[in-house]
Amino acid sequence: MSKPAMTMNAFQIAIQQFDEAARILKLSPDQVVMIKEPRRMTEVNLPVRMDDGSIQIFKGFRCQHSIARGPAKGGIRFHPDVSANEVKALAFWMTYKCAVVGVPFGGGKGGVVVDPPSLSTNELERLARRYIAEMADLFGPDMDIPAPDVGTNPQIMAWMMDTYSMHYKHHLPSVITGKPLELGGSEGRNKSTSMGLAICVRELTSHEHIGKPLTESTVAIQGFGNVGSYAGEILENMGAKIVAICDVAGAFYNKEGISMEKALQYMEKNPSKTLKDFEKTGLVSKYDDAAKLLEEDVDILIPAALEAQITKDNADRIKARIIAEGANGPTTPEADTILYEKGVHIIPDILANAGGVTVSYLEWVQNRMGFYWTEERVNQDLETIMVRAFKEVMDTAKEYKIKMRTAAFIVGINRVRKVAEMRGLYA
Ligand code: NAD
Repeated sequence: MSKPAMTMNAFQIAIQQFDEAARILKLSPDQVVMIKEPRRMTEVNLPVRMDDGSIQIFKGFRCQHSIARGPAKGGIRFHPDVSANEVKALAFWMTYKCAVVGVPFGGGKGGVVVDPPSLSTNELERLARRYIAEMADLFGPDMDIPAPDVGTNPQIMAWMMDTYSMHYKHHLPSVITGKPLELGGSEGRNKSTSMGLAICVRELTSHEHIGKPLTESTVAIQGFGNVGSYAGEILENMGAKIVAICDVAGAFYNKEGISMEKALQYMEKNPSKTLKDFEKTGLVSKYDDAAKLLEEDVDILIPAALEAQITKDNADRIKARIIAEGANGPTTPEADTILYEKGVHIIPDILANAGGVTVSYLEWVQNRMGFYWTEERVNQDLETIMVRAFKEVMDTAKEYKIKMRTAAFIVGINRVRKVAEMRGLYA
């Protein structure tokens, strides 16, 4: 699967989504300027000593879109396609995602232009440490709190937390979330995005009587990393049948269902840590063209890889009646309109994948208390927050007779606008 050419960049897409909601809310120009554009964008060149002794420069970014509702919050992506526009879009979506689920954060995002598998573990560590050291003034438990995203993981968060704590000479776990459990990570964090997504799918298929009951539904998942793989496992436990999965190594299907336990075990044992050659187990067949997975005849489609996978070029061929966006920005605005007109229900990213930031918030709270909850306690809070957010978005969609994406922005914009007005302008 390759990244289809986009007619708009990710930030332009984000702005278009904002404008649609702002029009419905009849926001004044002053209200718009207070909450639309990013507050601060930082770009750095990161020199890293490579294992062969040479020095290589990596481009890094951090965008703080909003700090109106609390400190900026958002992951750090390590990927070759990272760009200023992508980081700004992801930071923008974080602002409204945090507002939709009501956690007291603004929006931020960071990224480094790098292909992590091309670095040794030592090079990766030096890059991660340099990123945080270079921008240490921006970060802090009450200023800006990073987390993992595509290409980063709990070990990288541990190096970053250590660098920051060494820099400021005291132990500060609450500067970063998504840490390993032993270093102040939260129980439930690694599955939280997928759990939140599964809760949204469950609510849509049960409470709203949209589509088939979950226990009779088939599911295709694009991307089998943190979000996609656990979403498959949780939905399978809820009674759905996962019939197609894919990752960077290819796309695979079995109409009778793919055991998530076996797929996860296969990936764990595979030296490449991918689904490469999964078809050789005889458990699945391989699609000739990985993009076909998106067009599979399933009830529920979960894009959980990268942006702009569902476009005007393939939207017409999508057969799923429900799309739950695990990835950020997987559907372009043109595709969104085509699918809405076809009657497809899209649970938008800023709601569907908000479980991750919700448990990041719970991790930050636990770090600040110095007291740690059980997984049951964390999942209970996640359930309460996600069910409430889902209902608020669904009620707004019904009230205005609009798609869930615009409804989610209306819920989020209303919350950000309100606090921006209450706070007013400082100097
Ligand atoms: P990840 O790196 O763990 O997994 C990404 C998956 O997508 C991998 O299976 C990878 O092989 C696959 N992939 C990447 N490029 C691909 C390609 N060109 N074709 C097919 N598959 C490809 O990342 P993740 O944490 O699961 O994040 C996935 C998406 O979810 C991203 O958009 C991310 O921003 C979003 N998201 C993640 C979280 C989180 O908590 N991890 C929270 C909210 C949103």
